Amino acid sequence: MLDQIKGLHHVTSMARDARENNQFFTHKLGLRRVKKTVNFDAPDVYHLYYGDEKGTPGSVMTYFPFPNIGKGRPGVGEVGTTVFAVPKGTLGYWEKRLSDQGVANISREKSFGQDRLHFDGPDADSFALVEVADDDRAPWAEGGVPTDEAIRGFHSASLRLRDGGATEELLKFMGYQNVDTSGNVKRLAIPGGNGAETIDIETVPGASFADLGAGSVHHIAFAVENRAKQLEVRKALIDTGYHVTPVIDRDYFWAIYFRTPGGVLFEVATNEPGFDRDEDTAHLGEALKLPTQHAHLRPYLEKHLQPLGA
Ligand code: ZN
Repeated sequence: MLDQIKGLHHVTSMARDARENNQFFTHKLGLRRVKKTVNFDAPDVYHLYYGDEKGTPGSVMTYFPFPNIGKGRPGVGEVGTTVFAVPKGTLGYWEKRLSDQGVANISREKSFGQDRLHFDGPDADSFALVEVADDDRAPWAEGGVPTDEAIRGFHSASLRLRDGGATEELLKFMGYQNVDTSGNVKRLAIPGGNGAETIDIETVPGASFADLGAGSVHHIAFAVENRAKQLEVRKALIDTGYHVTPVIDRDYFWAIYFRTPGGVLFEVATNEPGFDRDEDTAHLGEALKLPTQHAHLRPYLEKHLQPLGA
């Protein structure tokens, strides 16, 4: 069993409208946009990153806004719900705030004995807030949400699978342990993780596979401290029979990717070098940053990428 992985690093989803996406995460959820760059593999679209002040791994929600993409259709083989942690006693604040902001499909639900608030993202993405006591992660303080209520980072992500068995085995190999079961949902967690250390596996036999589109999660990334640990994880996965990509430089982290038995795309990403590698912490996310290989596209991109607004 591996011990290099500490929880989630980031969650990456698809969107339709970049401006609306930016509004939702910065104005409604009060996260900080920590990077404005492009999809390194399709540089004519943005890659937008939202998180805490520095974009700490475990807090970072990222988006590829494709202006003409169709709507995703939920199903199995994908991430079901992405869950953020908020302080104890704040769901009432959030219920009112999200309702005042016109957020769709707000509902209270119980999950593993915890109250949580479910709501839709800008493209009907499935999100929830759950109250976590004693979460010592510092929130972004200037996002318009008081620090007593602000989002601390991810709590968990759920995987919706037709058959969860092989993916559960994989997660255990990656260092996760079973902590609870509720109905058709198994909860796993990494002891001593980074706060974003919980994964739920929801098994839905016979359900249709998801169609990826706006509002769908594209992949989830797990955090390792550095490149040496990433190489250890990569070797162990390959030795177990997984097809893992070479290490790819994403400027703000190094990434490896592999497809899991249940269909979800996993990434393992390094905590180094971080989002302040090419701009000051005070100005993260403000300027359009381009990787070296796409720097020559700047005049075209500055003309054609949709302005994000304030
Ligand atoms: Zn990623």
